[in-house]
Amino acid sequence: MSESDIDVEEYEDVWVFVEEHAGDVMPVSWELLEEAKNLTEKTGEDLVALVIGEDVDDVAERALARGADRVLVADDPVFEPYRADPYGEQFRHVVEARKPSIVLIGGTHTGRDFAGRVAVPAHAGLTADVTEIDVDEDGLLQARRPAFGGDVLATIVCEEHRPQMATIRPGVFEAAEPDPDAASGEVVAVEVVVDEEGTVSEVLEREVGDAVDISEADRIVAVGRGVEGDLEPALALAEALDAELAASRAAVDEGWADGARQVGQTGKTVRPDLYVAVGISGAIQHVEGMNDSGTVVAINDDPNAPIFEHADYGVVGDLFEVCPALVELLEERDPQEVVHQ
Ligand code: FAD
Repeated sequence: MSESDIDVEEYEDVWVFVEEHAGDVMPVSWELLEEAKNLTEKTGEDLVALVIGEDVDDVAERALARGADRVLVADDPVFEPYRADPYGEQFRHVVEARKPSIVLIGGTHTGRDFAGRVAVPAHAGLTADVTEIDVDEDGLLQARRPAFGGDVLATIVCEEHRPQMATIRPGVFEAAEPDPDAASGEVVAVEVVVDEEGTVSEVLEREVGDAVDISEADRIVAVGRGVEGDLEPALALAEALDAELAASRAAVDEGWADGARQVGQTGKTVRPDLYVAVGISGAIQHVEGMNDSGTVVAINDDPNAPIFEHADYGVVGDLFEVCPALVELLEERDPQEVVHQ
């Protein structure tokens, strides 16, 4: 299809890609399904979930229980485990055949991997790493994402190409609880166009040393440059709070924490009930990734550190003294009690 062939009027409905691996759905899919309802309420279109995988009936039912008007299902062994070629080819086929106006994909490794394979041949407009979405009165997707090092939020609009696609950061929207009784949509099986013979698959196994997903953590203790390479006080605090360890980019760059634990614009977006920032200054790029946390506690020896502007509780002091003191306090008390105070 050339660019001039695209008639935007032919495209309708808001699609959300529901990413599953062996029956486990990536939480970002449910976050997107919930947020996409705000779009369909404005455009009056249908909310459509697309599921690609093997034996995914249960996933389709779960998408209906979370409010999808229709669930398109491509069910075949060729889709398990995930490979970019069959996914990309199948996704592109369904998109070209059914012409959605908007397609939202979680910005996971998988989503980022195949979104471009769909967008480029379909002449779609793809905005990556989006943190806010809306539609205007003409149904144009307003995809917002940080730009210029995070100093501004750019709104990207795709007027002449369809579908309007976006990969969206995990953790920026909240998923609602499913309600199976309210499920009123339909499941539609789509033609599987991928042939196993046309694909090559090789399973590589490797040990993953630090595969934690901090975006799912309820409690986080995050370390910054202030810890000066000594994580012990923060680790003890994390253990006392039953919290995951996270880090600023400075701490990751120093090699004190794994990149998977980085919070912020170029790391993960987190929204735990409790976020304890230990020796973190509170640069805008860091705050962007943790600003939706429930209770924020900052420990910093600089009373003017910007992190205090984002904290519910602040302790001005040396983290090497404050962390052990908090651990001692926690050992005498129920952590739940501390979190909810
Ligand atoms: P610093 O800014 O050096 O702060 C250390 C803090 O520790 C200071 O406030 C200091 O007072 C305090 N301190 C020192 N010693 C002690 C002590 N003994 N006790 C208590 N407190 C102490 N940053 C991120 O975190 N995440 C991102 O995703 C990210 N993305 C970026 C993207 C771009 C394009 C750019 C340009 C930057 C990005 N940054 C990101 C970097 C960001 O701008 C900051 O440089 C970084 O967050 C600083 O990390 P920090 O707070 O650990 O270190």
